[in-house]
Amino acid sequence: MDGYYFERLPADAVPRDLRSRTHEVVEFVCADLNLSPPPEVVWIRPVTRDSATEILNRWKENHKHPIPVGSRSPVMRYAKDITEGYTPPGPPNEIWIRSGLSDLPKLEFIAAHETRHIWQKRPANGGKYDDECTAEGDAYPYGYAILTKYLTATRQLTPRIAAEVNEKRDSRRSAFLQEWPEAAPKWSDFEIDL
Ligand SMILES: [Zn+2]
Repeated sequence: MDGYYFERLPADAVPRDLRSRTHEVVEFVCADLNLSPPPEVVWIRPVTRDSATEILNRWKENHKHPIPVGSRSPVMRYAKDITEGYTPPGPPNEIWIRSGLSDLPKLEFIAAHETRHIWQKRPANGGKYDDECTAEGDAYPYGYAILTKYLTATRQLTPRIAAEVNEKRDSRRSAFLQEWPEAAPKWSDFEIDL
């Protein structure tokens, strides 16, 4: 089968400081969005199709119960590459983050962005964010706004990082408008209220 394969890593395969940085941002964003319980962070890493088969075989040898399906599976296949993070649609209260991400504020941004996608799935939003363009036009600007707020609150917003966040937001906005030229109104600008 075509597609991209990702291994779901056990949490202890990821350095503790990356996990705690991520946890802290997710908590901050959940407080801002009144979101409870917070999503579970699932660490993933890309694997080849052969490794995916091996992982599944190893699982079968080591577990008596069947391989969980869907997002609980030790290996996931997805049609597109997941370069940073992903929020599976439907019920799972999970955000997936590539285990190699460690840059500040890249990791913090992805955690914030994906947590916004969890918020978008709330029944109270009535499916408003079901289309990708609306979802991303909301989750990107929200992610940069809340990131700035978070970094300020935790005294991590140096001038260099502030410039980087602004630059990333602007280039993401251009990429968004290039991908969906008709969708300018769907890019919501969030006030950064510090
Ligand atoms: Zn997104």
